[in-house]
Amino acid sequence: MQNSDNIKIVLVNTSHPGNIGAAARAMKNMGITQLVLVQPEDFPSGVARGRSASAIDVIENAIVVDTLEEAIADCGLVIGTSARSRKIPWPMVTPESCAQKIVTESTEGKTALVFGREDAGLNNDELQLCNYHVQIPTNPDCSSLNLAAAVMVICYEVFKCDASFEGKAAVAEDEFWDREKATGEQVEHFYEHLEEVMIKIKFHDPENPRQLMQRMRRLFSRIRIDVMEMNILRGILSNIEYHIKGK
Ligand code: SAH
Repeated sequence: MQNSDNIKIVLVNTSHPGNIGAAARAMKNMGITQLVLVQPEDFPSGVARGRSASAIDVIENAIVVDTLEEAIADCGLVIGTSARSRKIPWPMVTPESCAQKIVTESTEGKTALVFGREDAGLNNDELQLCNYHVQIPTNPDCSSLNLAAAVMVICYEVFKCDASFEGKAAVAEDEFWDREKATGEQVEHFYEHLEEVMIKIKFHDPENPRQLMQRMRRLFSRIRIDVMEMNILRGILSNIEYHIKGK
């Protein structure tokens, strides 16, 4: 697979090591090898190694981190998986369009596909770190797939898309851009700065936050802000801080 180094599969807080092994196997079947585990409950594990079969290298090279923020810090595109729709709706994509975005973006930089806990999926804070959510269509009476099965479906879509890609999508008009997209880390710093300034100018009350930050995150996440735009916004925030100082 082209640019597979730029596609990370991130599993958050997985409880069953067998699922880590089966996910690694599904990934390798589909030519994807970068596995990142956020606080796995039981890893390293013989069960994970066993279930990975010939994808043992994926398990051995897996990176373990403490937070999802860390896992996606260098990613310009983050897509989270969700079996159900949330309180604040987020931009949703189909598995096919998710794959297209990942394959296209991976020609430029790092991307991540994020999967949740077996029992509870991804929480709202984690889902808000994602630019898009992808839902695998299912029988509505039984909509939640096994974690490794969900990894397989998404990786298969990425594999199919990559096979028919041949660089075409990279120049597709709606994906063409003159600047790199801001990474997860840059965007997180921006949200912190934005929140600080909104508190200073008394627009935002941290004692009564309502859904302001979620809505701000959804707004900027939808825009897929680039590095230059991010610098402009940070500059505006710094100037506001400078001008309100001492008032
Ligand atoms: N009860 C949980 C389901 C967890 S299933 C919930 O309601 O969110 C474990 C993980 O598998 C999910 O976090 C997600 O990453 C993936 N998954 C399962 N079913 C899915 C679906 N239909 N679409 C997308 N991802 C799915």
